[in-house]
This record gives sequence, C-alpha cells and structure tokens, in this order.
Amino acid sequence: MKAIVLTGKNAPFALETVPDPVPGAGEAVAKVLACGAGLTVHHTRAGRNPVEFPRIVGHEITGEIAAVGAGVTQLKVGDPVTAYYYLTCGHCYWCRINRETLCDNLRGHVGRDCDGGYAEYIKLPARNFIKLPAGLDWRKHPAEVGVTCDAIATPVKLVRKARISHNDTVAVFGAGGGLGVHMLMLARWAHARSVIGVDVMASKFDACLRAGAHATVDASKGKVDEQLRELTGGKGVDVAIDFVCTAETTEAAIHSLNKGGRLMLLAGQGKGFQADRTIQRNELEVMGSRYATRQEVIESLELVARGDIWPMVNLKVPLAEAEAVHQQLDKGLVTGRAALMMS
Ligand SMILES: [Zn+2]
Repeated sequence: MKAIVLTGKNAPFALETVPDPVPGAGEAVAKVLACGAGLTVHHTRAGRNPVEFPRIVGHEITGEIAAVGAGVTQLKVGDPVTAYYYLTCGHCYWCRINRETLCDNLRGHVGRDCDGGYAEYIKLPARNFIKLPAGLDWRKHPAEVGVTCDAIATPVKLVRKARISHNDTVAVFGAGGGLGVHMLMLARWAHARSVIGVDVMASKFDACLRAGAHATVDASKGKVDEQLRELTGGKGVDVAIDFVCTAETTEAAIHSLNKGGRLMLLAGQGKGFQADRTIQRNELEVMGSRYATRQEVIESLELVARGDIWPMVNLKVPLAEAEAVHQQLDKGLVTGRAALMMS
C-alpha cells in the first residue's frame, strides 16, 4: 500500500510503498478514505510527542473495514468506522467507569505508538474502531466524518466538563486552530450567551466568526485579559478554554475570568503557569482535560449525523501532498482542520 512514513524527527513526509497490514488476533484492518491533519500530528513529527521511527502518523480517520483477525466478532468487512485515538486497556478502573483517557495501562496513541491513518490501510486493535452511525454520509464527506473523532469529540467533552450553559460567556484561546474553531462551534451550540475567539492571527477571525464566535480578540494587540474585560463590561468571562497552554496564555486566561469562572487546560508546552490568590478569592475552578471518551466520540458522530454540528475542514488534499499541508500547519496557516484524502 501507499503510506506516508515518518522516518525521523522533522523528516519530510514522502509517499512510500509498504506491505499491506494483516490483522492478527483481536485486530482489524480498515481501508482509509480520509485522515485529519492537525497539530497533534504535527507535534509528533516535530518530536514534541514521543514516537518511535519509522511510524505512519495520523488518527482522525474515516475507513471501511477490509479484514478482521481471529476472535473479532464486533466488526465485519464493509463496516464504516472511525478510530478512537488512545490505546486503552479496556478493563482497568478508569476504563470501566467510562473515563478511559485516564487508563492505568495506557499503551499510547494511534499514529504514535502504532501505525496510523496517513496510509491506504490502517491496522488497529478491533476495539479501537468505532462504527459510524446510520445517517452519516461518510462516502460523500470522509474528511468531515474523520475529524469528528477528535476535533469535535474533544470540544463536546469540554462543553460538558466546563458546564457551558446559556448564562455563560466563553473565551477560547487558540480559537483559529482545529480544536479552537470547533470549540467555538460547540459553545455556540450549547447556547452560550457570548462566545469569544482569541488568537494571535487576525487572518483566522473570519473563520472564527463563521464557526459561531460573537467576537474576536487579537492577542497580538495588547493585553488579552484587558480586551476580554472590555468586551464583557468589566466582568470577565465565565469560561476560558486554553488550547495553547503556554504560561502566558494560561495566566491571561486566569486574569480574564469572572468570579466563579471555570478554566479548562489542555496539553501545552514549556514551563507551567503561575497563579496568585485570584483562584481562591474568586472561587475559580481550574480543570485539566484530555481528548474524549469513546462514548463522547459516538455522541459527536451522532451530532454530525443529525446535522447539529458540521466540522470545518478548510483544506483537503491527496495523501501525496501531506508535506505541503504540514508546511502550512507549521506556519500556523491552516484555519480549522486539514485532511488528507486517499481516494
Ligand atoms: Zn484501562
């Protein structure tokens, strides 16, 4: 099969011919129709996520089951599927209580610790494939369906975890990125009173507004907390979601919160933030979050199937052009998600 094989840190993506994967016991192979290309994949290539080379990267797939291994009963050839990103054990305490992102025996991630979706076929543990619900036109929209398993599911979890309601003003830091635009979309879907996109690239603000933001804040122009307070009549925002998580963005997020505000932190690099007594004084809630549960992926697919939410994939290119897409990701030039198309 044709695949993009990452051979080393920052190595260019080139199309190679590698052996077709064959499913072992408990595994299945899917023909990939499309795979999302986002910052998670980009961090893997840049060595910011640990990975062993050579590796086929990518995890946001739409696929069709092509073969199943011994003992696999829940999938059959022809089933349309997407993938769950984490390689969890399925039997520890956290897996059993539907919080499998905290799995005690996490074996890693699709596209980092096993080969992923930048290829014509993908082999995974059968339990990592999630069947697509009826009503989802995956043949016509494989890119949008593929990115749902992360770019929609992660914000769906955050809406619930941050308890976003009609009373809330929500600020999204890193709003122009793949998770950011979909967070704006989901906050609007959850009937937030006001949704504000914060980004350093004003060129992404049109897409933020299209995704559902009521207003935008240019972080490259002046203090973000002051701009957010100005937009909220001095009160500050009820929910801040920080997809960037540098010390600078998180500290700005803390200082932009209203009394009783909730701050959601995801991933991030570099040194951590420092906080003063604002958290206690204003009864702020600071929560970490990572990815989504399998159930939240299923619910996200259903939201897309019934047309409540439609993923924003602004760039679709053939698999062979992965390098060009990642050059754009590197420069921060992709608004929303990009996707590689296999057919
Ligand atoms: Zn587990």
